[in-house]
Amino acid sequence: MASYDPDNIFAKILRGEIPSETVYEDDATLAFMDIMPRSDGHLLVIPKTPCRNTLDATPDQLCAVIKTVQKLALAAKSAFDADGVTIQQFNEAAGGQEVFHLHFHVLPRHEGLPLRPAGNMGDMAAIKAHAEKIRQAIA
Ligand code: 5GP
Repeated sequence: MASYDPDNIFAKILRGEIPSETVYEDDATLAFMDIMPRSDGHLLVIPKTPCRNTLDATPDQLCAVIKTVQKLALAAKSAFDADGVTIQQFNEAAGGQEVFHLHFHVLPRHEGLPLRPAGNMGDMAAIKAHAEKIRQAIA
């Protein structure tokens, strides 16, 4: 497996080199909005320390991230009055991964409403409004 690339886009977000819409952070994890949301409220949870994905993550990194995933899944479900939540995580290019810093997708879902196609930039004003709804649901 390739080694961790410190110039991947999420590493740049962690260093504050590119902007992101943070919804939650603690000592070990950061949660922020996906800029190409496949459902309203689509967010990402990452560890603050480097690893490519589940295959090279430490147990501590995985435990910290999954705790935040649960917190944010509950908050996003409540914020959007969702019927369910899809949690996705991809490993290596063949597994569907495009950004090589461990991340979990959290996608609020409504009965009968399919995910939007991947790869379409979202409306930033809407993403910011969705982020605020999630922050308020955490508080
Ligand atoms: P994956 O690696 O799991 O296939 O997907 C990476 C995810 O990161 C995609 O859902 C994509 O929309 C998201 N993404 C890519 N670049 C950026 C970025 O610069 N900022 C944010 N917030 N999300 C990004």
